[in-house]
Amino acid sequence: MKVIPVGIWGGYPKANGATSSFLIEHDRFHCLVDCGSGVLASLQNYVPLEKLNAVVISHYHADHIADIGSLQYSRLINYYLGKPSTVLPIYAHDRDEEHFAQLSHKEQTIGVAIQETDIVHIGPFEVSFCETIHPVYCLAMKFKVDGRSVTLTADTEWSDKLVKFASGTDLLISEANLYEEHLGKAPGHMAGSEAGRLAKMTGAKRLVLTHLPLHGNPEDILDAAKGVYEGHAELAVVGKEYEV
Ligand code: ZN
Repeated sequence: MKVIPVGIWGGYPKANGATSSFLIEHDRFHCLVDCGSGVLASLQNYVPLEKLNAVVISHYHADHIADIGSLQYSRLINYYLGKPSTVLPIYAHDRDEEHFAQLSHKEQTIGVAIQETDIVHIGPFEVSFCETIHPVYCLAMKFKVDGRSVTLTADTEWSDKLVKFASGTDLLISEANLYEEHLGKAPGHMAGSEAGRLAKMTGAKRLVLTHLPLHGNPEDILDAAKGVYEGHAELAVVGKEYEV
């Protein structure tokens, strides 16, 4: 499978950027993970919007869902133009009924409820989930195909549960929203050293850091991760193709 970062920022995007989001592809099936601010503009560089097959949402914070409405309008406008359109499934948990209901729009998109215990088949992918530690209910996810896996932590502070969940993954895409001086002081997020520890304890073959802060120099976060994890680690690069 191929993983392409669509956006890398946490909270809000840098000028002309997008918040943390990933396109995961295999056999011409295109699945978007999270759809926050700036994602729709960036996504079109990598796949025509009408070719998107599925969306998975980790949680309902604005930096993960802000562009869902625009995505729905893009489907609706295509439909009005008479272009072939299929209903786009948007997978997300339904513990927040109001937000979940908004995922279904005029028969262009439909919300599909997922639970932590589910193993869901999305196109060629087998996808499983793990609750993270975040101010709102949030699911990490693991995409598997052909014996390979990519695990995305979504938003979380350090969680022992994630170590088991991500064990042996080929590519760990970890949030790393904090500089070391903020470790333990900002609930719901990890510092670079914690992302590095997660990669080390899971035996991940590769580590990519995302959900980066706009202030400071994110290279410092990468250095903190590399201080713990000896494998290959890098900051996510928008548009780069990671083969897994
Ligand atoms: Zn969040």
